Amino acid sequence: MKRNKILCVILFILVTLISSCSDKNQGIEEEIRNFINQQEKLVLQKDVEAYIGTLSWESPEYVAEKKSWMRDIKSSDIQDYQLKIEDMDIRDNQAFVEVNQSYRLKDDLYEVRYPLRLVKERGSWKDGDLKFENMKTKHFIIKYFSSSTKYAEKIRDVCEIAYENVQKRYGEGIEGTTVIKLYKDKEMLRQSVKLSFGWQFAGWYEYPESIKTTEFENAEDYREILEHELIHKLTIKKAENNLPYWFAEGLAMYFSNFQNEPEIYSMKDYYLNTYKNKWMTIEKLEKLNLEIMEDEEEIQNYYDGAGMIVKFMIDTYGEERVKKIIEALGSYDYLEGTGAEVDTVSIQRFHEVIPKILEIDVTELDDSWKAYLKQ
Ligand SMILES: [Zn+2]
Repeated sequence: MKRNKILCVILFILVTLISSCSDKNQGIEEEIRNFINQQEKLVLQKDVEAYIGTLSWESPEYVAEKKSWMRDIKSSDIQDYQLKIEDMDIRDNQAFVEVNQSYRLKDDLYEVRYPLRLVKERGSWKDGDLKFENMKTKHFIIKYFSSSTKYAEKIRDVCEIAYENVQKRYGEGIEGTTVIKLYKDKEMLRQSVKLSFGWQFAGWYEYPESIKTTEFENAEDYREILEHELIHKLTIKKAENNLPYWFAEGLAMYFSNFQNEPEIYSMKDYYLNTYKNKWMTIEKLEKLNLEIMEDEEEIQNYYDGAGMIVKFMIDTYGEERVKKIIEALGSYDYLEGTGAEVDTVSIQRFHEVIPKILEIDVTELDDSWKAYLKQ
């Protein structure tokens, strides 16, 4: 009898423990459901400030990225935004939540699934970015999913080479540590940058955010992507985010992509033959919005044309004077916003700076580029 009594007591304690534990977990699950519902609601309400309030401040670049992401939602026609919880794993003060995100834009339905990491800060749940692992090198922190370790290692093997190449080609190093985020695929990458973006890209950088990329088999692809994005990081910072979109792309093309291609790629004749009668001019580039373009050839021409104009400027006026344009743009106040958002103001400032540095205005510069093409 006595033994049975003890057993009963032990059983009772066990049952109470288990049930209080599962009660506790149910409570947390409820909190997390509410949190995800709240994020969904704030996106639907396009409430940028309140949405930023749901983020953890442990990584400032994530907050900057999400600010741009929300500003894009505010200014675009995103419909039926929905978040669905697919799975949940609660551990101490963290929770890992598999979220399915969907929305409509121009009658098309987009969907992506991502592993979100929630952290408890001062008693409430916060969005702590995706469930990334970390890998460090001298100048970089690589953030990646454990299933992408193989790709993170490829990045680790080439990132310092990319860093040195940029330093050699531009003549200056990049300050501080650069965060590289590695997404599962191009769609996940696109949706992490801007829901309204019209096409899928291989790499992304915007001051003061991280460099973002996705899975590629060839390590050399990573080196080239990183070089392009690092030139953005270097020049955008110098110009206090006052670079016209086309000029930023032109600089990245000139100082990275062109250097990685055979010399013929950046020769005038090659450009003329590739884009017969559709040659870019500064005037055209200023009117285009790269982010909503759809024609693949036109997108490539935007990059190549911008790079060729920068090359023309460097061949005509010298690299030092072109760098002076970047520095002169940096004497204006810092512009907050992504390339397309601040392009009108950047273009205006570019028009103010060019006569001071090159002693001609932008129209005259464009005319001399057109004349050079016809020579
Ligand atoms: Zn670029």
